[in-house]
Amino acid sequence: MSDFDENWALETLAVRAGQHRTNEGEHSEPIFPTSSYVFPSAAEAAARFKGESKGNIYSRFTNPTVRTFEQRLAALEGGESCVATASGMSAILSTFIALLKSGDHVVSSRSIFGTTVVLFNKYLQPFGVETSFVNLTDIDAWKAAIRPETRILFLETPSNPLTEVADIRALADLAHENDCLLIVDNCLCTPALQQPLKLGADIVIHSATKYIDGQGRAVGGAVVGNRELVGETVFGFLRTAGPSLSPFNAWIFLKGLETLSLRMKAHSDNALQLAQYLEQHEKINRVFYCGLESHPQYALAQQQQLAGSGVLSFEVKGGQSAAWKIIDATELLSITANLGDAKSTITHPATTTHGRLSEEEKQQAGITDGLIRISVGLENIQDIIADIEKGL
Ligand SMILES: *Cc1c(COP(=O)(O)O)cnc(C)c1O
Repeated sequence: MSDFDENWALETLAVRAGQHRTNEGEHSEPIFPTSSYVFPSAAEAAARFKGESKGNIYSRFTNPTVRTFEQRLAALEGGESCVATASGMSAILSTFIALLKSGDHVVSSRSIFGTTVVLFNKYLQPFGVETSFVNLTDIDAWKAAIRPETRILFLETPSNPLTEVADIRALADLAHENDCLLIVDNCLCTPALQQPLKLGADIVIHSATKYIDGQGRAVGGAVVGNRELVGETVFGFLRTAGPSLSPFNAWIFLKGLETLSLRMKAHSDNALQLAQYLEQHEKINRVFYCGLESHPQYALAQQQQLAGSGVLSFEVKGGQSAAWKIIDATELLSITANLGDAKSTITHPATTTHGRLSEEEKQQAGITDGLIRISVGLENIQDIIADIEKGL
């Protein structure tokens, strides 16, 4: 069914892949706001329900706009299949429920999205799925945590907010030696900067809410991987449980994908310039950005990422009061925890995204009182720097 050339470059796939023009000859992809579809005959209806005939049935699991988004994102990640979901969290939930059963075990990076930790500990654990957490960059810790019943290794790279980088190929090899799957949440880089499947990962997860939308308008998610794991197993769960993406949101994300490469390069350029400015500032202890040469895993980041992406953090001297002073002095930046927006955002992780952690957990996660995270947007970098300078 593919109507695109898989040899096209990423920029071309991002604009063209997955579009199926209707008889109306529309140039831009249409939105199909319909819950069900009309069958030409009773026999055809029966054939579609039996799976003998291909075609739309019901928008919980078949919608042309959603399918276009799925095919385009699959092409960008280099995966056979993609299942779009109502949010990034439902992408993770659908994947784990579809692939795991009671008694299975997960090894996860400690440095993952906070709500994902809650999902594992509070909601999967009572169903008999236990998760062990390890340091993202410590391959020996990953090895040591694997048990006979381990099925999944899960991570985000680079991590948020400290931009630690995982060696995807090494962890994919480790997973496969132990009959496990490696699942990578590729939210921060997107396929424009990093393609985990090409480095050996089995499944890629997205919160499309972030850079795929890119303008902070809609919530959505996606799972990408091979036909069996994603196209059948995860799809089967979505079809039944229904955390489906709406066609309208799919259309927003489709339009987001068209400019993804340009945006990710621009976010990364701005973030690098901001990181370099902050690094030489006397009031700042340390800058965390995987595009900086001083980053401990700069070489690995250069190898597996096209650029550093738009998220960075830094530790200001003077703890929480100094950090809050910088945040409150900004006029251009938005004080909000979202990331991946054209608008730059600024947050204080210790009292917001990581506020529920105990002091010990914060220390373990490297979330200090002076830490500030910025999702660097697409404004002019001199204006962004001037805004942060006000409180410094
Ligand atoms: C935001 C986010 C999620 C959750 O996505 P939602 O679309 O908000 O449900 C998952 N992983 C990462 C890395 C995120 O940043």
